[in-house]
Amino acid sequence: MVRSKKSLTGFVLSVKKVMSYRVCPICSSPWRSTQFAWLSQCSSCDFLVSDLSGSPESTTEVMCEASRAEALKYLRQENFKKILKGLKNILPSFTGKNLLDVGCAHGWFLTLAQKAGFHCIGIEPSSAPQLDPEISQMGIEVRCGYFPNACEKSEQFDVIVFNDVFEHLPDIRSAIEACRDHIKPKSFLILNVPSAKGLFYRLAVQLARFGVNGPLERLWQKDLPSPHLVYFTPTHLRDFVKAYGFSPLGEVPLETISLKGLWSRIRYVSQLSIVTSSFLYIVIAMIFPFINWAPRDTYCEIFQKKGDPL
Ligand SMILES: [Zn+2]
Repeated sequence: MVRSKKSLTGFVLSVKKVMSYRVCPICSSPWRSTQFAWLSQCSSCDFLVSDLSGSPESTTEVMCEASRAEALKYLRQENFKKILKGLKNILPSFTGKNLLDVGCAHGWFLTLAQKAGFHCIGIEPSSAPQLDPEISQMGIEVRCGYFPNACEKSEQFDVIVFNDVFEHLPDIRSAIEACRDHIKPKSFLILNVPSAKGLFYRLAVQLARFGVNGPLERLWQKDLPSPHLVYFTPTHLRDFVKAYGFSPLGEVPLETISLKGLWSRIRYVSQLSIVTSSFLYIVIAMIFPFINWAPRDTYCEIFQKKGDPL
């Protein structure tokens, strides 16, 4: 994340209007352009938005869903356990509480949360992620559709969670308003998003200054089916959510990378050669002990809706 008040590259080009947001959704300031036509930055608070659209046909990266799932499963599940542990510190008993997982993908969080005591419901618009067999075995309801349309108007939850979903939404303002409507008073919202303060994001920004754009484009998931449309820092996320009647309760520290599953994660984008993949794996393995000390590229926070219990 760039801390200066200049644009991403230091060159302020012009004031630009972004498709979904006339002004910054966090501080209402106008946009400025960056070196990338698809990326704009707030002229006041530096919040980043893209106007990328999903392009499964134009992508040169061939994603194998099974490989992707294998690559991500271990890391995701470990992080999901940490989220539930963090929630347990705030909500001692999950029994009798209902939880909505928006964009539940394979349903890995749902199965862990249901085992922990929640009554879980998932929403998933895409048919690409194959649901974990445990979902049907455990009788967990997964609705096909989008939030909040897949919910009944009066339906409310004790917990709503977005795991790597919020940054893909076309309008974060209407999404957070819908969260406010569908979360019970004094109940909880969990947002797990990529962080523009993270080590890898900052490295990618520095490389982009020297014309090496690939890593930054990859972090935004440019030319992939579901690109990122916003990129938060922890401060941006808190400021944004607080403005809609939620109190931040604290970060749940998550891991960005794990050696287990790393090879699959590197290889699931088949564009990389074996030599390049091997080189990347060795470099990451060598610096791995230091990565945990660096700012994380994933940020997760639990928020509580204000208001008296019903
Ligand atoms: Zn702003």
